[in-house]
Amino acid sequence: MYNIVLFGPPGAGKGTQSEMIIDKFNLTHISTGDLFRKHLGEGTELGKLAQKYMDQGNLVPDEVVIKMVELKITSNNSSNGFIFDGFPRTVTQAKALDQLLEKQGTEISGMILLDVDEFELINRIMLRGKSSGRSDDQDINKVNNRIKVYKKETLPVATYYDEQGKLNKIVGVGSVDNIFSDISEVIETLPH
Ligand code: ADP
Repeated sequence: MYNIVLFGPPGAGKGTQSEMIIDKFNLTHISTGDLFRKHLGEGTELGKLAQKYMDQGNLVPDEVVIKMVELKITSNNSSNGFIFDGFPRTVTQAKALDQLLEKQGTEISGMILLDVDEFELINRIMLRGKSSGRSDDQDINKVNNRIKVYKKETLPVATYYDEQGKLNKIVGVGSVDNIFSDISEVIETLPH
């Protein structure tokens, strides 16, 4: 069973690569951003709560995110493994995830960090905003705030996994297929 954290700043390509990884390795995709957008589209209470934070490019409170992920894990307990995309985004979330997986008798196999420079990130996000309809992709102030939040609150998560020898860095610039082949090579070396 593989449990993989796909990590990186906004616009690093986590969504694109996740789709390819779940197909090849038969994993369950848990993207907290996608889950929040689904709730938002359905107008649920959770969606309304998350919207306030997402609109500003701030993080949704940890306890809300963790509860949502827990539900997703327990409702897929016969899965072959999970790919976590956009989660954990804080050290509190990372510790909670370890506990959730421990309860299922499993653990994180490895974390893959997609490394992309800031200039490229901003270009990609603003380009995506033209077709995605995501309001947080269309406003340069919101984009800059997401990158700021990433550096301050999310980057410490990389150290958390590095200290456990689980961090694998991949260059996230180049063709989608080449990046995917680099990621696949790493996944095949992970304990599972
Ligand atoms: P991106 O990585 O491109 O910024 P996501 O789709 O992963 O986009 O997330 C969009 C927004 O959803 C974030 O800016 C944040 O407000 C919220 N969000 C997603 N995942 C989390 C999380 N794990 N913790 C807190 N907030 C989150």
